Amino acid sequence: MRWSRPIAPINPCFAAPREPRSVIAADTATLRIDCTALAANWQRLDAENRQTTPHAATGAAVKANAYGIGVDIAAPALLAAGCRHFFTATLDEAVALRALLPNIWIAVLNGIPRGAAREFLAHRLHPVLNTLPDLADWQAVAAKPNAPGALLHLDTGMARLGLDADDIAALIANPAQLGAIKLDYLMSHFAAADIPDAPSNAAQSSLFAALSAQIAKSCGQTPKTSLANSAALFLGPRAASDLARPGYALYGGNPTPAAPNPMRPVLHLAAPVLQIREIPRGASVGYNATWSAPRRTRVATIAIGYADGILRAASNRLTARHGGATIQQIGRVSMDLLTFDVTDHPAIERGSRLTLLDEVQTIETLAEQANTSGYEILTSLGPRYRRVVEPL
Ligand SMILES: *Cc1c(COP(=O)(O)O)cnc(C)c1O
Repeated sequence: MRWSRPIAPINPCFAAPREPRSVIAADTATLRIDCTALAANWQRLDAENRQTTPHAATGAAVKANAYGIGVDIAAPALLAAGCRHFFTATLDEAVALRALLPNIWIAVLNGIPRGAAREFLAHRLHPVLNTLPDLADWQAVAAKPNAPGALLHLDTGMARLGLDADDIAALIANPAQLGAIKLDYLMSHFAAADIPDAPSNAAQSSLFAALSAQIAKSCGQTPKTSLANSAALFLGPRAASDLARPGYALYGGNPTPAAPNPMRPVLHLAAPVLQIREIPRGASVGYNATWSAPRRTRVATIAIGYADGILRAASNRLTARHGGATIQQIGRVSMDLLTFDVTDHPAIERGSRLTLLDEVQTIETLAEQANTSGYEILTSLGPRYRRVVEPL
């Protein structure tokens, strides 16, 4: 049974079935989200995590609208799978998530916006403290009885967010800076977890262990640790910690790029053929005539384009699938439309649906065609799709 994405932030995986928005469905691309696969992926990562660290918890990164999938769809499915720790990038994302998950642990990776510490208390959000000023801001509210515990981010080689070596030395020299702050977790983030042999993995891992021990000792607290993203869950003991933070692999991305994907595909993306035409040899297709017909060509135009996240950089490189066959995209990707050479696929006609994402043509396939990463393919998924939830 399939139904369309509800407008209200209710749990779509358990909501009463609804009819699709039928009038407009026929000219709109459809993104199908398999909540069973999403839940199974979380459980698979959790099993991987606990194989290395039996007591460890596995959270979920649901930043950027759950990597473009729809956080109102993904978060309830992850909760049902057993996930109890959620990470957003921004405070706004966390406040929106709080409305979906009233009683669940939520942390904000980007830290505390200036002057917003009270928002964290009001919505019971755990801040990631990335800077010494973050520490000072949180200290101002940390003594309140309802203040959530914080995560302290130690930069071990990303040079992006987190306390640097000087900040850490200053904190160890003067642990009173923590004031009443309760440190629930010390965290860090790998720069190259997707490359198992990268020397930085072992270096970051041992630096994190050393710094964690020093900070715990100097501040007299015993915080837990949080280290692994999706790829790091496959690095074994080097990335062991009390709380993992996978994102990409939950949504079907391959966390082990050099090996077959251990995750289940979550997404199916298809768009309808709006028009079929025949053009003579030598005729061109699309903006700026980047493709010319080497023979009489049958062209199919489908209702999806770069406004939906089909990156223009993939022009003339993209493929789609229909009935087990692979079909070549031709001409520029435009805002709302793509064109394909269907000369050798007479079964494709107006109203047929071409598939852009399935278990064969993956997120990584599209990433390669657009010369980017699967992460950017996911987070580019547009708002215009008819999102169809396959419930748990
Ligand atoms: C986005 C993010 C994650 C999740 O990473 P994936 O590679 O998507 O699993 C974990 N930790 C931090 C700090 C992040 O920014």
